[in-house]
Amino acid sequence: MNAPNLPARPDSSTLKPVDMHVHVVGNGSGGTGCWLRVGRWHRPLAALMLRHVGLPSDALTGDLDRLFVDRLLEQVRGSSLGRAVILAQDLVRDEQGREMEGVGSFYVPNDYVLGLARQHPEFLPAVSIHPARPDALEELDRCLAAGAVMMKCLPNCQNINCNDRRFTRFWERMAEAKLPLLAHTGGEHTVPVVRADFADPRILTLPLECGVTVIAAHCGTKSGLFDPEYFHVFAEMTRRFPNLYGDTSAFNVPIRGRHMRKCLAPPLVERMVQGSDYPVPVHGHFAWARGLVDWKSFRRWERQPNVLERDYQLKVAMGFPRETFTRIWGLLRNVKHEA
Ligand SMILES: [Zn+2]
Repeated sequence: MNAPNLPARPDSSTLKPVDMHVHVVGNGSGGTGCWLRVGRWHRPLAALMLRHVGLPSDALTGDLDRLFVDRLLEQVRGSSLGRAVILAQDLVRDEQGREMEGVGSFYVPNDYVLGLARQHPEFLPAVSIHPARPDALEELDRCLAAGAVMMKCLPNCQNINCNDRRFTRFWERMAEAKLPLLAHTGGEHTVPVVRADFADPRILTLPLECGVTVIAAHCGTKSGLFDPEYFHVFAEMTRRFPNLYGDTSAFNVPIRGRHMRKCLAPPLVERMVQGSDYPVPVHGHFAWARGLVDWKSFRRWERQPNVLERDYQLKVAMGFPRETFTRIWGLLRNVKHEA
C-alpha cells in the first residue's frame, strides 16, 4: 500500500471558489465528437435541464455543443467562481474494455474537454477513462501530458469494478501522477444504471488503498426514493481513509440533501468540496424546508438566474465554510493555486 497523497493546504482566504463537478454535453455539432442518446422517457427531463440553464429546449437537436459551452462560460464569468472543472464521459464498457453498444446515454471525449480548457482559462479539464480499456494506461499518460487535472468515472453507470485487481497498476499510476479520482456514488436517475451494486462507496477501496485521492460524488447519498442509502458507508470510510473526500453535488435536489447537517459539521466538513452537478437543476426549497437556509436567503437566491451562482450561494447560506469551495485547489493535479 502506498502512502496516500495528502494534499498541501493552500491558504483559502486568497483563493477563488471552484465548482469541481460541471458536465458539458453535446450532440456532436461542430465536430466535437460528443453524442447524446435521449430516450423517449428522458426527453422531457433533458429539455427541462436545458431550459433550467437558460437554453432553448430545441438546442437538443441544434448546435447544442456551442450553445452549451457559450452559456456555461457566461455563467462562470458572471459568478463568484474562479474556475469550473468540466467533465469528460467515457463509454460504458464490458470487463474487456469493449464498448457496450446502445447502453450509455452520453459521451464526451477527453480531447473535447482538454481542448475547451486550453481555449478558456475558466475551465479545468477532468478526463474519463474506463480502466478496463486495453489502452487505459496509454490514454492516462496521454491525458496527463495534455494537462488533465482529475479523472471522472461512474462505476455504476459505466460498469467499472474499481476493486478489480487488474486495475491496480492504473490506480498506482494515478496516485504517482497525483491525479485525483471523482467517482459517482449512490443511486443515479439521469443516466442509465448498469450495475446498481457499484453505487456502494466500498467500490472505491482499491484506488484508495493504492493512494489515489478519491472524491465520492454525492457522498453516497441516494437520489431516488427506493435507492439504498450509502451515506453512512461513505462517512465511515472517511475515518479509515484520509485520502477520501465527498462533493456536495446535486445536494439541491429533493432527496440527496438529507444528510447535509452531518456534512456541515466536523469531522466530515473537513472533507467536503463544492460541486453543482450542472446542468442538474438547483432549487433552494428543500434546504429551506429543512431549516438549512432562512427564508430571505432562499428567496434571494432562488431568483438568481445564474445556476452556478445559485448553487454556490445556497451552499454558502447553508453554512458551508470557505474551505469547502477552495479545498479542491489542493487536490487537483498540476494546478497553480490562484487568487
Ligand atoms: Zn454528475
